[in-house]
Amino acid sequence: MTNDPLRDDPRDGIPNDHCPVCAHLLNAATAAEGEARPEEGDLSCCLYCRSFLVFTADLTLRKATEKEISELPHETRQILDHVRRVAGQVLQ
Ligand SMILES: [Zn+2]
Repeated sequence: MTNDPLRDDPRDGIPNDHCPVCAHLLNAATAAEGEARPEEGDLSCCLYCRSFLVFTADLTLRKATEKEISELPHETRQILDHVRRVAGQVLQ
């Protein structure tokens, strides 16, 4: 990564994908805290339908299972609930 924000592509290597729940095109991702690139197993939230998603090995997205969500640490679930609330406000 360079220090030139016009040359850095934060999506470099992250494919555009469609939400597996609502089918909206997803072509951007933002870390809930700080800066981070997604890795396999990271959680995401669709801004359109607010479904929880999981990045796969090729960084496409699949729907998170209820079991995956229920097994998360309490603090992580609180962060996800906050992201879901904010996602609902972004598109209003
Ligand atoms: Zn969606």
